[in-house]
Amino acid sequence: MSTITIALSKGRIFDETLPLLEAAGIVPAENPETSRKLIIGTNRDDVRLIIVRATDVPTYVEHGAADLGVAGKDVLLEHGGNNLYQPLDLEIAQCRLMVATRAGFDYTSAVARGARLRVATKYVDSARKHFAAKGVHIDLIKLYGSMELAPLVGLSDVIVDLVSTGGTLKANNLVAVEHILDVSSRLVVNQAAYKLKRGKLAPIFDAFKHAMHHHD
Ligand code: ADP
Ligand code: MG
Repeated sequence: MSTITIALSKGRIFDETLPLLEAAGIVPAENPETSRKLIIGTNRDDVRLIIVRATDVPTYVEHGAADLGVAGKDVLLEHGGNNLYQPLDLEIAQCRLMVATRAGFDYTSAVARGARLRVATKYVDSARKHFAAKGVHIDLIKLYGSMELAPLVGLSDVIVDLVSTGGTLKANNLVAVEHILDVSSRLVVNQAAYKLKRGKLAPIFDAFKHAMHHHD
């Protein structure tokens, strides 16, 4: 019996994938928020979940350690998405990749006078492309989290980060000054599994698609 391994990250992506899995008849045996297990069984003995960091989902799927996974477009752009099938935008975990600054920083003027900007971000590739397209010279500072802090303590002039409600920016006296792209999470599938496990995967994809349309 071939088994299906699905890579998910905790938090938003897990929470918002749960109803889709349920529509496919897949119910996790445990909640990863409270369990310390990284491999979680389901009601189906041929389907298991692995819990990994959001940025690691494409890597597990690319190498076939997972057959499929759910990853944000932000993560896929940075990873490159090479060797992955991306058959479906699940339209979950929606947010925007944005440029933000301290409330007092005049971003428009800084750009207009050709100032060199210090940009702190986890999204170095997306940031580099965005500012190159605008003809803005930047010094990139790679961070792994809590980007909001950087402009407040003088580490950077701006940050490039994901924004949904804007609550975190506001709480830190930051303002979003530029939209880079809309982000949602996609299904990513290992290329070999896509072909070899098609019989098992196709009904799961169909159920996901069907469940999505019911939310429209
Ligand atoms: P981590 O803390 O491990 O970096 P997050 O849980 O913050 O990861 O984000 C995981 C994924 O969820 C991101 O790759 C992105 O696609 C999505 N995401 C992140 N922040 C938001 C947000 N504010 N609103 C909706 N989706 C988000
Ligand atoms: Mg986070």
